[in-house]
Amino acid sequence: MLDQAQRILKDVFGYDAFRGNQAAIIERVASGDDALVLMPTGGGKSLCFQVPGLLRDGLTVVVSPLIALMDDQVATLDELGVAAVALNSTLDAEAQRSIAERIRRGEIKFLYVAPERLVQPRMLDFLQRVQVGLFAIDEAHCVSQWGHDFRPEYLQLGQLAELFPQVPRIALTATADMRTREEIVQRLHLQNAERFLSSFDRPNIFYRIVPKDQPRKQLLAFLAQRKGDAGIVYCLSRKKVEEVAGFLSEQGFPALPYHAGLPSELRAYNQKRFLNEEGLIMVATIAFGMGIDKPNVRFVAHLDLPKSLEAYYQETGRAGRDGLPADAWMAYGLQDMIFLKQMLASSEGDERHKRVEQHKLDAMLALCEETRCRRQALLAYFDEDLPNPCGHCDNCVDGVQTWDATEPARQGLSAIYRSGQRYGVGHLVDVLLGRENDKIRASGHQHLAVFGMGKALSEGDWRTLFRQLVARGLADVDLDGYGGLRLSDSCRPLLRGEVSLELRRDLKPQQAIKASGSSASQLVRQDEREQWEALRTLRRKLAEEHSVPPYVIFPDATLLEMLRSKPASMSDMAQVSGVGARKLERYGEAFLEVLNGARSEAAVVDLRHELVSLARAGMTPLQIAAQLKCTEKNVYSLLAEAIGRQHLSLEQALDLPEDLLGEIQDAFLDGEGELPPVSAIAEAFVGRVDDGVLHCVRAALQAEFEV
Ligand code: ADP
Ligand code: ZN
Repeated sequence: MLDQAQRILKDVFGYDAFRGNQAAIIERVASGDDALVLMPTGGGKSLCFQVPGLLRDGLTVVVSPLIALMDDQVATLDELGVAAVALNSTLDAEAQRSIAERIRRGEIKFLYVAPERLVQPRMLDFLQRVQVGLFAIDEAHCVSQWGHDFRPEYLQLGQLAELFPQVPRIALTATADMRTREEIVQRLHLQNAERFLSSFDRPNIFYRIVPKDQPRKQLLAFLAQRKGDAGIVYCLSRKKVEEVAGFLSEQGFPALPYHAGLPSELRAYNQKRFLNEEGLIMVATIAFGMGIDKPNVRFVAHLDLPKSLEAYYQETGRAGRDGLPADAWMAYGLQDMIFLKQMLASSEGDERHKRVEQHKLDAMLALCEETRCRRQALLAYFDEDLPNPCGHCDNCVDGVQTWDATEPARQGLSAIYRSGQRYGVGHLVDVLLGRENDKIRASGHQHLAVFGMGKALSEGDWRTLFRQLVARGLADVDLDGYGGLRLSDSCRPLLRGEVSLELRRDLKPQQAIKASGSSASQLVRQDEREQWEALRTLRRKLAEEHSVPPYVIFPDATLLEMLRSKPASMSDMAQVSGVGARKLERYGEAFLEVLNGARSEAAVVDLRHELVSLARAGMTPLQIAAQLKCTEKNVYSLLAEAIGRQHLSLEQALDLPEDLLGEIQDAFLDGEGELPPVSAIAEAFVGRVDDGVLHCVRAALQAEFEV
């Protein structure tokens, strides 16, 4: 069985080896048993049902919640030469009848369908009369009422177990938590399903979180090193989305806005452009996300703080589905926290629910101020233990400096307390720094004991300190809308001197901007750029011809492998990961042409260099021709060219007797005006020198005149 699976993997998909649990899952499902698959985004879930679907007789029915997702997968299978269709509401009755007919004739291997349609009695009836080989339930967490993507229609999928007892079912999701998992098993009747749990680490994503200082400038610095890359910039509000999108466009970064307040046609249009074009930046609220299957999103940047680690993980997880290096970057500040806390306080819902949400926000804040490896902290939150620091996040790479902030923290808390627990950070800093302005005088705070006590720290240091006090829950934000700070219960031990406080030291703004760049991205080196762009251009052209997104033709990983392994023949091309039989046949030649075209140009450049060196070293044209394995005639014409460009002098190129040289020069200079062509004087020298020599002398004369 696995042999066969392996063959399909290579022939159809063009891949050499299964990843992670894929082989075990495929074996289980292909042999007719149920499976529950938990795998992170980009882990390769699709193959887990596509390969068994091809191994088993009959139709594979894939349940998927979104039309966009279905269309993408159908297009992908289609390009691989696998017969797949999506049944959705955009099809008219005639088209639907024709699909049904093709299914009856066994011409279709994969049927993608939305859950509400699948469970219609007519549909179930139809499926019972054709041979179904496998049910795949994608995005299975949609069955969970606790999750954010709950779809009531998913609840009805449970009946498949009774209606099709002989047909294996595989449920897949990228949502890991225990509660969701149990709900899937229970509601989809998957008690007999083997569970396949993968690590939820996304090793190709580089995490960086920076304190917000001048967010736009920081964002630009981050983007500057990612020109031409596609990415998502998340903002909290619609207004900010539009502002940032406008700002980026002005700065020369092609950016589009996306939020729920835009007309739906515009939203659809922008989303389509993001999928189909390369190097676009989507500036969006969290309304943008579900159903974004674009594999080559190279970065996700947050200009505002997500409200939980679940949200952060999911949003950053949209980067780098293709497994290539990607960045998750975020700038956050005290204002973010104040805003989120206020939102939470004013939200509907019972106290218990609010406490849960508060907890989630605290975990998010803790990640921001984390002094250990970010990945370890993130995975630990999801109950996964990463034994060693990852070496691929800002904290690992830059190192984190901490300082003993016990005393300043006490001063800060004291300033909050003594000023009446209702002032914002600006005022508190003024108190600590002893700034006697109108507001201070009006409140009489120049008489406080802490007034002017904090001059050892700068304004920036104090702001950082207050942010960290809030993030650690040592101070609370007043929720009246003005963002005043008050003490929390947990600060008492610190005030009483029972504990000390180590805080993370922020990078200086200059360093922070520099560091905001660094790291992962940049798939191709400078010297590979040109050829990379040529490959992408061809891919784009083919994608347009076939009306599919470029990544459906070939993913970036495949183009990158072509770029690096330089296949020279169709059989080399067949070895490239991601080039299956059908794609080889359809596109192999075209990509080879681009690769070899560009390569022979590069080869000619090398040849020229070598020729000049050999000539300078005193070799004759005949010797050079032997060395470079080309004709003497070619050598002469390359020599003439080098002389014309003054890379070589005539004396270096040729060893001519002086009087012969004089004679040739006279012949060229005999007439008036322009130099005559070689053919005009060649007759006079037949049998005495090679035509190539005349070309060289002429090139030298011409170079002389041009100076
Ligand atoms: P998921 O649905 O889990 O997010 P996908 O099924 O879209 O992930 O797979 C992510 C990417 O990895 C796709 O481009 C897919 O073709 C590729 N991929 C999956 N399995 C393999 C494999 N065994 N070898 C090489 N590439 C793979
Ligand atoms: Zn790390």
